Amino acid sequence: MAGKHRSLGMTVLGSGSRGNALVLHADDFAVLVDAGFSDRELARRMQAAGVECGSVRAVVISHEHSDHVKGLRAFASKRGLAIYANRATAEVLRHRDSRIGPMTIFASGNPFSVGPFQIHPFSIPHDAIDPVGFLVQVDAYRIGIATDLGHASHLVTYQLRGCDALVLESNHDVTMLGNSTRPWSLKQRILSRHGHLSNAAAMDLLRATVDGRTRHVVIAHASEECNCYELLSRTVEDCLGALGRTDISVHIARQDNPLPTVWLP
Ligand SMILES: [Zn+2]
Ligand SMILES: [Zn+2]
Repeated sequence: MAGKHRSLGMTVLGSGSRGNALVLHADDFAVLVDAGFSDRELARRMQAAGVECGSVRAVVISHEHSDHVKGLRAFASKRGLAIYANRATAEVLRHRDSRIGPMTIFASGNPFSVGPFQIHPFSIPHDAIDPVGFLVQVDAYRIGIATDLGHASHLVTYQLRGCDALVLESNHDVTMLGNSTRPWSLKQRILSRHGHLSNAAAMDLLRATVDGRTRHVVIAHASEECNCYELLSRTVEDCLGALGRTDISVHIARQDNPLPTVWLP
């Protein structure tokens, strides 16, 4: 279809330690990335965001933590959807719930297509069996997704360059985490190189990945206890302002409700 470009849309249904899911749309074909809410809650959030549930044709999984797969079996099997995961993640999911439907296996590092989407899964440092981020492309538009990472490896930074929209984790404020009532072992896990990105580390990653193409930045997986949506919003705007990029739209994903759909172009 020379000359015709589809729009690429993204709706974050919710993000945080109690659940993560987002929908990518190209024309009337949609893919769910992670299914970390119950089937009913996924449907409720889609309706609230104006996403047609029936347009979702597949579910792509980043890793096996329950805040990313809670509603996976119910949502996918009820609608007969294909599930895409890498082998190690698929094995854990099947071991955990043998009633899960058939899965299509991808290899981390190898691009695959689902309908109009070209999806490139890349490894991220996180305490799951084989966690990945995604670079998603439709025609000329590109979205980079990296949530759940303990640090920004060279690979992650490299993959996320040249995206029209970025979905980046900014999990916690280090001082708020230190002062929180969380057990010491959990604090250590979050802070480790395979835990979650602090706001400061996320801003470093943002500075390293924003470029001339970037139009939207979505901040995801913010902790409700050890972060603050208003603080995050100011932090990201200050960071982009210092780069002279006040033209970029900033969206802070919430735990409890979906964000409006971001469209490219
Ligand atoms: Zn995780
Ligand atoms: Zn998570």
